[in-house]
Amino acid sequence: MEKKGQVARENTIRQYLIALLEEHVLSSRDLSTYLKIPEKEVLDHFEHIKISIRKNHQSIKIIPSRCEKCGFVFKKRERFSKPSKCPVCHSSFVSEPLFSIVDDKSHP
Ligand SMILES: [Zn+2]
Repeated sequence: MEKKGQVARENTIRQYLIALLEEHVLSSRDLSTYLKIPEKEVLDHFEHIKISIRKNHQSIKIIPSRCEKCGFVFKKRERFSKPSKCPVCHSSFVSEPLFSIVDDKSHP
């Protein structure tokens, strides 16, 4: 029973995450604040959401992190987490990646 409740709760959180990201562009930290769950859990949910929204022809759009010091943009990054350091100038002033859910019309 315990386990079943946990799964239901996670599904609810995922539905809410999807609803938020369909309307807003948010960082994982914003989402962790809204949902009152750790940021790491938000990132775990992203991995599941990424797959589950595919059948609705949607995908998670990532607005990449950017180095605040030299302006380097982490375009190639596939992971959802924030990079810790800039590979160019080694600054740790790196902005958070932002996320939204978009209709994936280019891949029907
Ligand atoms: Zn930099």
